[in-house]
Amino acid sequence: MGKKLYIKTYGCQMNEYDSKMTLEVMQSSGDIQEVSTPEDADIILLNTCSIREKAEEKVYSELGRLHKLKQHNPKLKIGVGGCVATQEGENIFKRAPYVDLIYGPQTLQRVPQLLEESNKIKAVDVSFPIEEKFDLLPLPTAEGPTAFVSIMEGCSKYCSFCVVPYTRGDEVSRAPQQIFDEVARLAEQGVSEITFVGQNVNAYEHPLDGRLLRLSDLIEVTGSINGIERIRYTTSHPLDMTDDLIEAYKYVPELVSHLHLPVQSGSNEILTKMKRNYSRESYLEIIEKLHAARPGIKISSDFIVGFPQETEAQFRETIDLVNTVKFDASFSFIYSARPGTPAAMIEDDIKLPEKKERLYELQSLLDSYQKEYSKDLEGSVQRCLVTGLSKKADSRMQGRTECNRVVNFDFQNTQILGTLIDIKIDKALAHSLQGHIFSQEHIPPT
Ligand code: SF4
Repeated sequence: MGKKLYIKTYGCQMNEYDSKMTLEVMQSSGDIQEVSTPEDADIILLNTCSIREKAEEKVYSELGRLHKLKQHNPKLKIGVGGCVATQEGENIFKRAPYVDLIYGPQTLQRVPQLLEESNKIKAVDVSFPIEEKFDLLPLPTAEGPTAFVSIMEGCSKYCSFCVVPYTRGDEVSRAPQQIFDEVARLAEQGVSEITFVGQNVNAYEHPLDGRLLRLSDLIEVTGSINGIERIRYTTSHPLDMTDDLIEAYKYVPELVSHLHLPVQSGSNEILTKMKRNYSRESYLEIIEKLHAARPGIKISSDFIVGFPQETEAQFRETIDLVNTVKFDASFSFIYSARPGTPAAMIEDDIKLPEKKERLYELQSLLDSYQKEYSKDLEGSVQRCLVTGLSKKADSRMQGRTECNRVVNFDFQNTQILGTLIDIKIDKALAHSLQGHIFSQEHIPPT
């Protein structure tokens, strides 16, 4: 009889991708059925994230809860994967001795083997065999019209506040033929929107036929694959926003008019302390070039507020940058020191209430631009990718604009899933848009 597997995912899109791959690796190794609650499982895997302190503590709290399940069912296997696993290693066994296996983001392909080993010993593998991971991953199966495709792993930037280079290793790019095969296979299964993912996705670089292929080349080839209508990529670093990539916005229509390009701070002094290796001016230059290549493109970003010794004046420079770029929906967080990173050694002299005030001000401003952009869409016609049925009402369907806004519209015909249709936007709500089908041109008869 088969085993029931429950995977809980913390953190970013890379982790979501890794969890999907872990499930497929497990399913290709035996009779495995995914279940949606830990209580129903024979095997529980936590795919963790250590980017923020709270996320790490959440994992230990979850392990505490799972301990009770293990007490009732001693045959239950518990595994910890992801970045907390790499960072904490065997320490996890000290705090949670009932854990059976520990694996890193780059060894998820070895989980079936580690589970086997864990019948005899506590199994641990947090090494970085990234090429092996790319080679051994099974070809993914599509789950709807959108899919992530991993094109590189790791990061060699070593920003002073970040643990990723220590938990995922240096940048390694995947062979282009593997990527094209995966995209073609997904397209054959009905996927029309591809998101290339990687910690530093625009650092992609791989030799092929005597030249170095970059992300712009992958985008160009992918745009020509039959069935692919939209291409996104995340997360990118301003330092790798090269001219060839910016040029791709001119000649690849499948590349969406939306880019997530984390700036983190608007102050050059703070950017230097963060070891981001670009300046506010060079970031603005990139934004200008992007607007010239693709008028109307929307930019979103990540921000860290209250970096150690950030002055009020330096924070004002971030606010000023937001008002200059007018970012679309973005992410912002209060700085949280990660042990072992250079920034954790800088004295943090800003009090928490002050950090919270800054965060509140920044988020309110970001929110106002996001709402303004949504409001601007009222009355316009947007090309939307139909992604599924509306979550709220059975008679409605859901699509996504190029800027990833959810649009609900009255219609029900699953034949239009995965197609691009024109929707007129009637109303902007707080977290979504409402609209109606503008043109029946691409709609098959019911
Ligand atoms: S670019 Fe910086 S923040 Fe992003 S993953 Fe690499 S080290 Fe971390």
